[in-house]
Amino acid sequence: MKKDDIITLTIEDLSSEGLGVGRADGFTFFVKDTVIGDVAEAKVMKMKKTYGYARLTRLLAPSPDRIEPPCPVARQCGGCQIQAMSYPAQLRFKEKKVRSCLQRIGGIADPPMEPIIGMDTPFRYRNKAQFPVGRDREGRLTAGFYAGRTHSIISCRDCLLGAEVNERILDLVLSHMEKYHIASYNEADGSGLVRHAMTRVGFCTGQIMVCIVVNGRQLPHSEALCVALAEIPGMRSITLSHNTEKTNVILGRELTLLWGSDFIEDMIGDVRFCISPLSFYQVNPRQTQKLYEKALEYAGLTGRETVWDLYCGIGTISLFLAQKARQVYGVELVPEAIRDAQRNAALNGIANAEFYAGRVEDVLPQKYADEGIRADVIVVDPPRKGCEESVLETMARMRPQRIVYVSCDPATLARDLKYLCGRGYEVKKVCPTDMFGNSVHCECVVLLSRVED
Ligand code: SAH
Repeated sequence: MKKDDIITLTIEDLSSEGLGVGRADGFTFFVKDTVIGDVAEAKVMKMKKTYGYARLTRLLAPSPDRIEPPCPVARQCGGCQIQAMSYPAQLRFKEKKVRSCLQRIGGIADPPMEPIIGMDTPFRYRNKAQFPVGRDREGRLTAGFYAGRTHSIISCRDCLLGAEVNERILDLVLSHMEKYHIASYNEADGSGLVRHAMTRVGFCTGQIMVCIVVNGRQLPHSEALCVALAEIPGMRSITLSHNTEKTNVILGRELTLLWGSDFIEDMIGDVRFCISPLSFYQVNPRQTQKLYEKALEYAGLTGRETVWDLYCGIGTISLFLAQKARQVYGVELVPEAIRDAQRNAALNGIANAEFYAGRVEDVLPQKYADEGIRADVIVVDPPRKGCEESVLETMARMRPQRIVYVSCDPATLARDLKYLCGRGYEVKKVCPTDMFGNSVHCECVVLLSRVED
């Protein structure tokens, strides 16, 4: 097998980046723009020892699960990887992915899976969008999304995953830049001003936040832009984020309030949340509610429990659980998120939740050693890389009755479950929940119970 060879293959799986995976001549090939079930002709682009990359040249037989993607830039944009797959097929793929990770990596022969919780419709579900602002190939000012694996901007002001109002916001930002000759940021040499426009919409409250990321101290004539943006019904918060670093991190740490307040509010269930630009907040609020209800069910609270919520963000799960527990403690890295969590507790009149800022791997072992903290239930919701071993170890030593593991990466989830199963726990239930329709990402809630000894 060598570059430019033509191969024929059946796509059997998707890679973690959403590339179709099939086999030809004993090699595994990754083929972009294919879906599971396609029979494809492809041209080899690059060969490694045991695998290669190939480009789709012809669909010999389209998969029965293939559909026409509703978004015109689905193929170029790096945001959605599997829009060309029907939604039921996406859900089957995710369910299977969770099961196979738990089997292969977690060593759980027959994972106790519940059916995946899918969305009613996998569009318009994101409450947050971050649009890079720059120049397109013709040199026109534009906003959109990065093409997969690159930083060239695909023009797209109405992403079908996001809120409809984003288009109007971006139009106002771009026309403001045109009018006052404000340059977009140029990654190559660090020149120019406007880097990104970030938006957030409270789906329950209708409140809207706009945060413009600038490579500098101010945005010329920002008052005029605020007047225009403030006409949008629901607009509550307009801020500047200062980011002068040469980095892929979108938001800078420092913010300037331009108009309104520096946060918006939203509700999950009965709990009201304040969200500031720098805080993490679940991007799919409708599914989040279903996810948290599942986590609450798994936590099995009666009102007498002490619960630790690790990686708690702005306290969303903590406050959701506090209504049914005796006491909840949350731990989170980002200090602003902890401030939001405390404000959120007060806002909801919740007095039995306390929050600590710091890395879980520092805070938890230390508090266990110094204060002998204990828990009936521990909830963890770590970022994709999962939990540090010191966190898992301390959890096991705290011996809670139940652990509820909320995960956005089935592979690290399976690794961590394997550790906990070796330390006195058993996996009782697994429920995949689709938070990110049309992408390959997959969320999951797992209930672990202490094995009696
Ligand atoms: N449970 C929350 C947030 C989950 S996202 C919710 O449902 O909204 C994961 C969170 O972990 C983020 O808020 C991130 O800031 C935080 N985080 C990442 N690494 C961390 C660490 N080492 N220690 C503590 N928090 C961390």
